[in-house]
Amino acid sequence: MSEDLAQRKPRAAQSLRDLQELGLIDSSITPELQAVADKYAIGLTPHIIEMIRAHGPNSPIARQYIPTHEELNVNERELEDPIGDLAHSPVPGIVHRYQDRVLLNVIKTCAVYCRFCFRRETVGPGTRGLDSAQLEVALRYIRQNSQIWEVILSGGDPLTLSNRRLSALLDELGRIDHIAVARFHTRVPAVAPERITDDLISALHSGPTTYIVIHINHPDELTKRVKDAIAQLTANGVPVLSQTVLLRTINDSAETLGRLFKQLAKARVKPYYLHHPDLAIGTQHFRLSIQEGQRIFSELRQKNSGLTLPQYVLDLPGGHGKVPISSSYIETKSGSQYKIKDSRGNSHSYIDT
Ligand code: SF4
Repeated sequence: MSEDLAQRKPRAAQSLRDLQELGLIDSSITPELQAVADKYAIGLTPHIIEMIRAHGPNSPIARQYIPTHEELNVNERELEDPIGDLAHSPVPGIVHRYQDRVLLNVIKTCAVYCRFCFRRETVGPGTRGLDSAQLEVALRYIRQNSQIWEVILSGGDPLTLSNRRLSALLDELGRIDHIAVARFHTRVPAVAPERITDDLISALHSGPTTYIVIHINHPDELTKRVKDAIAQLTANGVPVLSQTVLLRTINDSAETLGRLFKQLAKARVKPYYLHHPDLAIGTQHFRLSIQEGQRIFSELRQKNSGLTLPQYVLDLPGGHGKVPISSSYIETKSGSQYKIKDSRGNSHSYIDT
């Protein structure tokens, strides 16, 4: 990267040409890379561009956002809708998979576009979120189903909505007696920390109790600016949790994940989910086997306290939901007699009463 480029003020990147001008990809754009860009959105915020400059174009941060020709390799088991959202969508924008909660996907744009995204077939800058009539139908569905206790705002990234739209939406949800919690699944605090402002926090307090679940995958993403943004949320009464995708070449070791989860806990963020990578099309190069994931997670359990351990989960294809997939501590059971493994892998007998 030339000195000039390194000194240039970062701006957002949304195309191969932008990445080329910023010196983040080679000077030649191959037909394969162009084919990837034609199919899947590219998006890097100024903050992420700065981070890539600090850590390098082959760093774990860069690999999450810079497209590669490997995305053209399609495995026959990969799916356009890998977690089966469509099977549980009674009206546009709503996914009702579990009794007491729904996903509400208002918007299909994100601040960044992750190369391993499980909704990569549906998100992007040219895609449309819900229009006002569709949003009203989605809200009516929530009003009419009194078993719904929690609304999970996902997408797209819900924190890319304007404060005015967020406030109006939360205000509507706050008028529904059975809705207690609005949970935001977002990349924004980690990729555009300047978005966390007093005005945004006021908007987040417009309706039900709000939780933020930050998508964050590597300890290098927890910069001072990101930690300040998180502190602004927690100090103002917005609890923060995290979700992490287990990704080959990015965070596939107990050491890296352990550091991430400990730093998150120190920043008052409870690690919530470690997702086994989904069967999204063209993401094979990021996927580990479940056996590899279980080995990493067992090692993590030896090193990290419960406070710093998320649940390791798989979203079953077909819309069958999330299931914990860490290896069991119960090895055998015969009547009331169990063989149970401790966190160091040693077996012990236990008789149930
Ligand atoms: S922010 Fe989330 S929805 Fe958007 S591209 Fe990344 S993983 Fe996909």
